[in-house]
Amino acid sequence: MKNTIKKIVSVAMAFTLLGTGTAIVKTIAPQSNNTITADAACNHNMPRPKYGPWKKVENLYGGRYKERREIKWCCNSCGKVLYTTYETRIMKYGKDIEVVMP
Ligand SMILES: [Zn+2]
Repeated sequence: MKNTIKKIVSVAMAFTLLGTGTAIVKTIAPQSNNTITADAACNHNMPRPKYGPWKKVENLYGGRYKERREIKWCCNSCGKVLYTTYETRIMKYGKDIEVVMP
C-alpha cells in the first residue's frame, strides 16, 4: 500500500515536470519563430545610402578644415540599416576642395 502511494506520487511529479517543460517551450517557441521568419523574409538587397549631415571634425592649417559625415546603407526592401560608412572631405572657407577616403 505504501509502495503504491509512492509510485502514484512520483508519477504525478513526473507529469508536473513534463507539464512545466511543455509550458516553457510553448511560451518561448512562437516568439523565436517570429524573429527568424521576419529576418528570413528579407534578403536585404540593394542597399541605398542615407546621408547624415556634414560635421566639422578637425581644424587644419591655412583656413582649411576637415568635415565628416555618416552614410547609413539601408536595405531597399525593409529599410533596415545594414552597415555604416563615413565620408571625409577637406573644406576651405566653406568650399569643398577635396574629398578624401574615410
Ligand atoms: Zn531587408
